[in-house]
Amino acid sequence: MTIAAVAPSARPVSIPVGEILPWAVFGELIFLLVLYFVGAEQGATSIFPGMYIHEFVHDGRHLLGFPCH
Ligand SMILES: [Zn+2]
Repeated sequence: MTIAAVAPSARPVSIPVGEILPWAVFGELIFLLVLYFVGAEQGATSIFPGMYIHEFVHDGRHLLGFPCH
């Protein structure tokens, strides 16, 4: 019984940092925007008047442990 050596068929692909950086910055901005709306969009830090956005993200707010009421 012989064991044949198996050559890896998939090679890692190198992705230059210059191609990832704009998408990383974009993702960071989206993340911070969502984090603001979920975590801080109420009361004194509210941009939009009313409670519509707060009520829309209310369950996520409690799920993530942000203080609410
Ligand atoms: Zn709440």
